[in-house]
Amino acid sequence: MNPFVRFIMWLRRLIGGGGEDGSEFLCDTCLYDHGSACTRPERPNARRCPDFRRR
Ligand code: SF4
Repeated sequence: MNPFVRFIMWLRRLIGGGGEDGSEFLCDTCLYDHGSACTRPERPNARRCPDFRRR
């Protein structure tokens, strides 16, 4: 994800812009959201992820 897209995603998070269902990003509560535990390109803004595991 390029820096501009990251910035836009960050802004959306800041103003509370949710997804289609208004939910938070999965990565925020995911067990793998640290260091190099996850290399998925959608991190840290995944809304759907087959590898998601709640912390
Ligand atoms: S496994 Fe999926 S939900 Fe978890 S940090 Fe990676 S991209 Fe996010």
